[in-house]
Amino acid sequence: MKENFENEYELVRIERIKNVCPMCEDYAKQQSEKPIVVMSCEGACLRGEVSRRAANLICHSLLPEKTVRLCLGGAFTKDGGQRNLVRNAERILALEGCFIKCASRMMKGVVDGMEPEVIITDKLFDFDTNLFGIDEMSEEDIKANSLEVAKRIVEKL
Ligand code: SF4
Repeated sequence: MKENFENEYELVRIERIKNVCPMCEDYAKQQSEKPIVVMSCEGACLRGEVSRRAANLICHSLLPEKTVRLCLGGAFTKDGGQRNLVRNAERILALEGCFIKCASRMMKGVVDGMEPEVIITDKLFDFDTNLFGIDEMSEEDIKANSLEVAKRIVEKL
């Protein structure tokens, strides 16, 4: 049993912090009535960048009345308003830059029974899949690809 657990999970220890960001807590309260929480992985690579930007476009431009953009780091590391957004959401979208699925795997570790709809965003736009860094694609193309990903996701919501 223990061996199975160790094969399937990594245990992490997150340092507790007493500090609270009042702006973040206010945001979480104000946004709590929205039905769809959108999280994204925070990859520093091209795939993560497109995922993060697509999540921002969905929540702040294309469908702001229905969606709330989650702060993944805040929700994962601290039991506060951001984590409550996930607990109380009608639907949770997890945009993942690639098949490693960091955002949903992180949040499953701190919210029991969470069942996000996982969207692997690097499957939603055409590009040279050998590229890795954000410096390997022009800003114009990153913007266009992020918008394409965001639109394709919104079409299906
Ligand atoms: S899902 Fe992929 S792109 Fe996103 S943070 Fe994880 S490894 Fe990086």
